[in-house]
Amino acid sequence: AKAAGRGRHRFYEPSMHSNAANRQMLENDLRGALERDELSVVYQPIVRAAGEEVAGFEALVRWQHSKRGLVSPTEFIPLAEECGMIGPLGEWVLVEALQALRSWPADQRLAVNLSPVQFNDPRLVDMVAAALAVSGVDPARLELEITEGVFLTDCDTTEATFTRLKELGVRLVLDDFGTGYSSLGYLKKAPFDKIKIDRSFVRGAGSDQSRNAAIIRAIVTLAENLGMDTVAEGVETDEELQLMRDLGVSEIQGFIFGHPVAIEEAIALAQGKVVT
Ligand code: C2E
Ligand code: CA
Ligand code: CA
Ligand code: CA
Repeated sequence: AKAAGRGRHRFYEPSMHSNAANRQMLENDLRGALERDELSVVYQPIVRAAGEEVAGFEALVRWQHSKRGLVSPTEFIPLAEECGMIGPLGEWVLVEALQALRSWPADQRLAVNLSPVQFNDPRLVDMVAAALAVSGVDPARLELEITEGVFLTDCDTTEATFTRLKELGVRLVLDDFGTGYSSLGYLKKAPFDKIKIDRSFVRGAGSDQSRNAAIIRAIVTLAENLGMDTVAEGVETDEELQLMRDLGVSEIQGFIFGHPVAIEEAIALAQGKVVT
């Protein structure tokens, strides 16, 4: 079941425009990127740890810049957050991905990333509700991935927003778990359904890094006691995969099962038509 090896991309090197002027240029380009149709969404399979069935996909945005080629989201998402573009960009990704979800088997889910900055927009919940309504997709199939960064600018509205999102029937995932500060307190602040264990704990967890394994074991126990699922991201090797299974992680995401791929290939994967 080692699905793809395809979908690898060479990203534009960030250091090439580390100065402010270059940044400004990229920001200006990003403003027009949506209209010029330079953005796309790719989908990475998430696989059930028991067996190798596809549980769903994570939607990840890509920017094909006319001159610079592929720019990494780790580069342009922060830019979009700073220049007020993340709202329209995030909405576009959600609508696009929900459309794609209609082509997948009904028992599969779609995970979409929400930026903490999007929580500053009082229309966020209405936007998600409208996108769901237009797609006609069962809200329970949508997972919204949010990092704990959302709690740093803790205004009273954050927790209320989570409650309202939950009321729509969507699932909430705490992304990149373990990488920030005092994550445990955040587990109380929002009704998360799932914890995504950050790649930094998964990487090399199978070799002699017993500390990583101990941390993952603790996260899984914590999640189980709180009635949450777990997903491990960044699983690349057989050794890591085996360890995640041994530790009781519920779902696996990583290059071992497939890179993010374009919609056509994702549909084939979703329907199990890809011989691996
Ligand atoms: P993320 O949400 O943690 O997404 C997972 C990242 O890990 C993706 O990088 C994915 O390609 C990569 N990955 C998956 N499996 C493996 C693996 O086995 N090994 C390694 N080395 N990497 C793996 P990507 O697509 O470059 O996205 C980077 C980050 O950009 C995302 O991290 C997320 O924070 C942000 N991002 C991407 N798309 C969106 C979006 O639509 N909205 C928002 N707000 N953020 C996005
Ligand atoms: Ca994510
Ligand atoms: Ca991560
Ligand atoms: Ca993540």
